[in-house]
Amino acid sequence: MPMTAYDDKNIFARILRGEIPSHRVYEDDQVVAFMDVMPQGAGHTLVVPRAPSRNLLDADPAVIGGVIAIVQKIARAVKEAFAADGVTIMQFNEAAAGQTVFHLHFHVIPRFEGVALQRHSGEMEKPEVLSANAEKVKRVLG
Ligand code: AMP
Repeated sequence: MPMTAYDDKNIFARILRGEIPSHRVYEDDQVVAFMDVMPQGAGHTLVVPRAPSRNLLDADPAVIGGVIAIVQKIARAVKEAFAADGVTIMQFNEAAAGQTVFHLHFHVIPRFEGVALQRHSGEMEKPEVLSANAEKVKRVLG
């Protein structure tokens, strides 16, 4: 089946353009990282390249290379900020694989021994919790 074209009205494109708010923890000229509003665990962060692509399948390899370095930076920062035991990185491609927002992004989720992940796109977190968590990550990133 041919891949559907990128649609710049998706919610992450709107966040990147500043049309809707997000709890940002990091940004540079290539990448933005912000808190997931329906976290699968405390500190769940999304790392999003500014360049448009639906997902990994249609992305420019140079963009993937740049964004994965920032995934590492954010993974190290959330591990420290939340004193986590580990970090899960997830990335979904197309609806059949669980993708719900069609702009490439990587999930970075602090993990704790014996604590299961919460449901994907489950409960909405309170804005004050998201902003407190964003502050913790930003403090580590300096
Ligand atoms: P995926 O299923 O990989 O496409 O993941 C999309 C993620 O975006 C889910 O984990 C959602 O909780 C999250 N999400 C949806 N809307 C927003 C939003 N406005 N701000 C931050 N995260 C969002």
